[in-house]
Amino acid sequence: MPLFRNAQFEISIAKPSGLPPPSGPEIAFAGRSNAGKSSAINTLVGHVRLAFVSKTPGRTQLINFFRLNSGALLVDLPGYGYAAVPEKIRRQWQGLIESYLKHRESLIGLVLIMDSRRPLTALDRQMIDWFAHSGRPIHVLLTKSDKLSRGAAAAVLQEVRRALQPLGPQVTVQLFSSLKKSGVEEAEAVIGGWLVPAGTVGGDLADTPAGAVDAPPGA
Ligand code: GDP
Repeated sequence: MPLFRNAQFEISIAKPSGLPPPSGPEIAFAGRSNAGKSSAINTLVGHVRLAFVSKTPGRTQLINFFRLNSGALLVDLPGYGYAAVPEKIRRQWQGLIESYLKHRESLIGLVLIMDSRRPLTALDRQMIDWFAHSGRPIHVLLTKSDKLSRGAAAAVLQEVRRALQPLGPQVTVQLFSSLKKSGVEEAEAVIGGWLVPAGTVGGDLADTPAGAVDAPPGA
């Protein structure tokens, strides 16, 4: 069963004080307004209605929680940088996102959606700053890659990887297209990896020759 299939809407919150008690690992999705976040979520979830919730007028300023099959939560953060919104409201959204990214302990990783034609805006970097120091992973989806030629897409990918390299291997970057449904498997593999407890990934133990595994204490 793919990671995000059958996600179910659970709750929306408007203020940090409204956050529900942690009830599973959370994977947050953030991005500039219009970057393609709702489309990317719908593409990963596999149906078109889910992120409608987040697009409903009045819900765009909220943090929307969706429960995944595994028990983990997909957390859709409000889109930022929308120019037509008054400064005061914009600051409120940003405050909500900042508080969530900096303090939420059940947040295990951030998926950052950027339009591949306009990657790494000042606000995107702000999101990264708020979260990267926690040491937890960030996966960047450079979406709408179908709008670029193959060569241009490859160049953007390389450029963004290079720009984020100083943050270390916890930050990963890929191309994505909701229109072409490309990049879905790669995204699922990276994000799914966050949900696997450390030490059980990829059959490390199974590949270890018999006898090379540390003996249990007292054996
Ligand atoms: P959000 O505001 O970040 O949730 O952005 P949306 O998902 O609503 O997308 C904004 C606009 O970009 C819409 O017109 C989408 O149809 C378009 N869009 C989103 N993803 C893609 C993509 O992968 N390829 C193309 N060509 N257009 C896209």
